[in-house]
Amino acid sequence: MIRGFSLLCKINFRHYSTLDLFYCCMSMIKIHECPCPVCGTRHPCWTEHAMYPRFLIGFDSGIVCCHSIMVTRFMCQSCRSTHALLPEFVIPFKSHSLFFVLAVLKDYFLSSLTVSQLCAKYEIPPATLYSWKAAFLKDKRIWLGALQDVLTSAEKFLDFLLRRGLEHNLGEFFAIANRSLFQTRIIRGNGSFTPD
Ligand SMILES: [Zn+2]
Repeated sequence: MIRGFSLLCKINFRHYSTLDLFYCCMSMIKIHECPCPVCGTRHPCWTEHAMYPRFLIGFDSGIVCCHSIMVTRFMCQSCRSTHALLPEFVIPFKSHSLFFVLAVLKDYFLSSLTVSQLCAKYEIPPATLYSWKAAFLKDKRIWLGALQDVLTSAEKFLDFLLRRGLEHNLGEFFAIANRSLFQTRIIRGNGSFTPD
């Protein structure tokens, strides 16, 4: 999988709908500047290999919106491995966008909504909410390190993500964790038999 980072800092992304943001970010990714995650070639000759549909759920203007998007899979001509190309706000193997998950967690930690009210608002089961909360707390510890994690509340870290982290630091987390924020499914190697 190839991730496009440092895209959100270049646009006023909060004004975009989920669907528009996906295609805007895709148009900004310079695939030929992306290294191959398998063979490490810094500037491989990428060729389009396939496209597949995928769901992307956003929370646009207060409404849950389920979009169907087309993801492009590229082949590295150096090692013949294939990789889906995803912008940073799409969580690999998850339908809900990163903004959606953060909006839910913001309401969970910072609003007075009950869990049932929150789940009704975002049309998710409580189990999904709690799995996102667990992933958030786990990734917070990875990102901050054990000591700083203890010293930083969930609310403070969420505030950091929403104010500055999204624009500048998602690539930093990826470099530390070798996966994306909230990504729980990990595919090593080629991954050509998985959708993302
Ligand atoms: Zn390669």
